[in-house]
Amino acid sequence: NPDNAEKTRVLVIGGGPGGSTAATLLARQGIEVTLLESAIFPRYHIGESILPSVLPVLDLLGVREEVDNHGFVRKDGAYFEWGPENWDLNFDHLSGASRHSYQVIRSEFDHMLLKNAQAKGVDVREGVKVTEILFHGDRPVAARWSASDNSGAAGTIAFDFLVDASGRAGVMATKYLKNRRYHEAFKNVAVWSYWRDVKPLEVGPKGAIAVCSVPYGWFWAIPLHDGTTSIGLVAKRTTFSDERERLGSIEAVYADAMTQAPRILEMTQGANKIEGYKVEQDYSYVSERKSGPGYVLVGDAAAFLDPLLSTGVHLSTFSALLAAASVSAVLDGELAEQEAVDFYERAYHQAYERLLVVVSFFYNSYNRQTQFFEADKLTRRERHMLNLYESFLHIVTGIEDLDDSIDGGEALEEVAQQIATQKKIDAGHNEAMNSLPDSPRQAVGGLYLELEPRLRIRRTSEAPAGPEPVREARAGL
Ligand code: FAD
Repeated sequence: NPDNAEKTRVLVIGGGPGGSTAATLLARQGIEVTLLESAIFPRYHIGESILPSVLPVLDLLGVREEVDNHGFVRKDGAYFEWGPENWDLNFDHLSGASRHSYQVIRSEFDHMLLKNAQAKGVDVREGVKVTEILFHGDRPVAARWSASDNSGAAGTIAFDFLVDASGRAGVMATKYLKNRRYHEAFKNVAVWSYWRDVKPLEVGPKGAIAVCSVPYGWFWAIPLHDGTTSIGLVAKRTTFSDERERLGSIEAVYADAMTQAPRILEMTQGANKIEGYKVEQDYSYVSERKSGPGYVLVGDAAAFLDPLLSTGVHLSTFSALLAAASVSAVLDGELAEQEAVDFYERAYHQAYERLLVVVSFFYNSYNRQTQFFEADKLTRRERHMLNLYESFLHIVTGIEDLDDSIDGGEALEEVAQQIATQKKIDAGHNEAMNSLPDSPRQAVGGLYLELEPRLRIRRTSEAPAGPEPVREARAGL
């Protein structure tokens, strides 16, 4: 215990959806949890369009009713104008209870989740930034923190287990593990702003996010419950800089791109942009390992894919759920730590890869028309690192163990064509949904996640008789 530091059982860094979910679920298991968050909530965050898979997690957190009653725009699906094709992704086609989701103002949504964490017993400290992590060998054992308000308050807190949910800042990954890899294939720039008096989307499911391609990228339009609409442009970084050079400013690129997205242009006729532009780039990355002795990386602290399918909050809350089950299994002495973190690693990475493949399909199908996005040109290093080939088979067709010597790019293309021709976009979305096991268990390496009656990891060999694992049900994609 360094410096006779204060001690907690689990330290969570970050109070976004990932951190507050992991912390709440651990506290609900009776485990002592301290959460340090550098900002004072409510704080702004991008990522307003939520997938239905988040709803069952809100149930487990005991905050579902509050979210349901808050007034967020109900989201029944997504609408795509993608190259020459239009698609509706209608959540009503999903099986299971969560056939809708919400478009949320993240400052409000994240604050609800953080306050709920506190109400469920987490020691939440806002305005407290983790500045350093102390290790015993490879194992993190304590964190130094300082007050974000420059008051000079500082201290050290020791812990048995660390959940790093620090988002893009990624304390463990960027400062200590140095294992974050950026995706060449998704080197995009996002530029967005907020508008008032935007005309409602007249097509697609009710409350849908509109995703509309332009020759060098795509727009999102997300209706929010305060009457504003979040409208953002995602463009390949190199093309974006060329356009910026040509047109003179970010504003000009955004405005010019909008003239090439007739749907968005029409919706913004007579509307007013009420804020300046926000810009983010190089947000697509993954940590090769997302866990280790005494720690797990949750949500954006481990990986972020791409805004295209609105998967960020889903992956954060899903990984937080896995983290809570894994960490409590270790602390309760039900599983060896190595086994638990391996389970976490595989289950999270598998969900991440599945979405990577689906997002790649989307970009690929567009790329054939425009040669703009290059997601199908994932480098060999990336293919090797992500083992796309295996995940594609495992996830999309259910076939296993394909030989590494077969070229991953070809296989990916094959499935891209299959998916494009069969128009199984709904099924692709179902996969995103299905990474949250709403039926009793998801088998990974002889272990599975059980949600009820208690969040835990169980051995498949000890499973009570019941429905087959979700994975088998998915094989038909
Ligand atoms: P965060 O929400 O980022 O929370 C991390 C928290 O950690 C922050 O509050 C931060 O203040 C705190 N923190 C950081 N460092 C420290 C420290 N040293 N000490 C203490 N606290 C610290 N996702 C969707 O689901 N839908 C969308 O439509 C969507 N659109 C997106 C559009 C763009 C352009 C981008 C870039 C992302 C989008 N996302 C979207 C992704 C989404 O924003 C993230 O995936 C999500 O916020 C991740 O949640 P998190 O809890 O992992 O991290």
